[in-house]
Amino acid sequence: MNILVTGGAGFIGSHLCDYLISKGEYVSVIDDLSTGFFENIVHLQGDPRFQYINDTILNKDRMDSLIQQCDVIIHLAAAVGVKYVIENPLSSIETNICGTEIALKLANRYKKKILIASTSEVYGKHMHAPLKEDDNLIYGPPSTMRWSYAASKLIDEFTALAYHRTKKLKVAIFRCFNTIGPRQTGLYGMVVPRFIQQALRDEPITVFGDGRQTRTFTYFGDVVEAIYRLMKCEEALGKIINIGGTEEISISELAERIKSIAGSKSEIIYVPYEQVYGKDFEDMMRRVPSSEKLNSLIGFVPQTPLDTILEKTVEYFSSET
Ligand code: UDP
Repeated sequence: MNILVTGGAGFIGSHLCDYLISKGEYVSVIDDLSTGFFENIVHLQGDPRFQYINDTILNKDRMDSLIQQCDVIIHLAAAVGVKYVIENPLSSIETNICGTEIALKLANRYKKKILIASTSEVYGKHMHAPLKEDDNLIYGPPSTMRWSYAASKLIDEFTALAYHRTKKLKVAIFRCFNTIGPRQTGLYGMVVPRFIQQALRDEPITVFGDGRQTRTFTYFGDVVEAIYRLMKCEEALGKIINIGGTEEISISELAERIKSIAGSKSEIIYVPYEQVYGKDFEDMMRRVPSSEKLNSLIGFVPQTPLDTILEKTVEYFSSET
């Protein structure tokens, strides 16, 4: 199969490309390196089953020819990271909404199956767990730019479902929860690479807020396997599906674990949100997925234990420094 991966030079995208190539698939990547890195895919260059196009997904002509040539699109290209979205609100909204609209319109024109990456951010400010795909969504006001990320991905979900309902387009949407592992950068705010790099340098580990907010973390290897299986699953079409780990941990406990795994002398410090993100910021205090739907569709749920994921990721960053 010939698979077009938008955003294939990013953290999840590049691992997905490795996985697809290992399965014997042909892969084309379009990525403008706005948040991805060429180094993530450099090892695939020269493989006859791989091609990389350095361009934006907003280039309709380029997207037209790529989508015409492929069998399936896995659309990952998007603005990523809370820090990135807050610092670049306009371009983030444009990439997320217009980019996905272009991908869907062309997928429909050439009748190609398309998988759309969404995010657990879409759930907003829930305190209950686990989060199910048909839960209500709770956001703050538009003056709090963080929610533009959730709202823009939500528009993507609506548009994808509307194409499915009105045009019978083969589309599935997956909501990724916090995914971690090698190649993830801390530049856009992601907590695990930031904590690991701080720990390895014996610098203060910066917990934002009081550290009682919780997350679950998923290993990239589990995520790419789930995406691949969903791509092959006809029953996933027209559905929204969570992909996420199940081990809930507070951010202050995460800091302790990383410090211990890295054998670090770092101090753990607490930094007010306002100091990091300015006045108009709200965090999500809890985020735990239900994996029921994923399991019922593909008989697989992300299982790699958090300590194993952290150990592997610390090992990767140690060898990088
Ligand atoms: N966080 C933190 N220190 C950091 C980066 C992030 O305490 O240096 C917190 C952040 O406030 C959030 C959690 O870690 O509560 C996860 O943040 P991330 O940006 O990785 O993902 P999010 O789940 O917020 O999209």
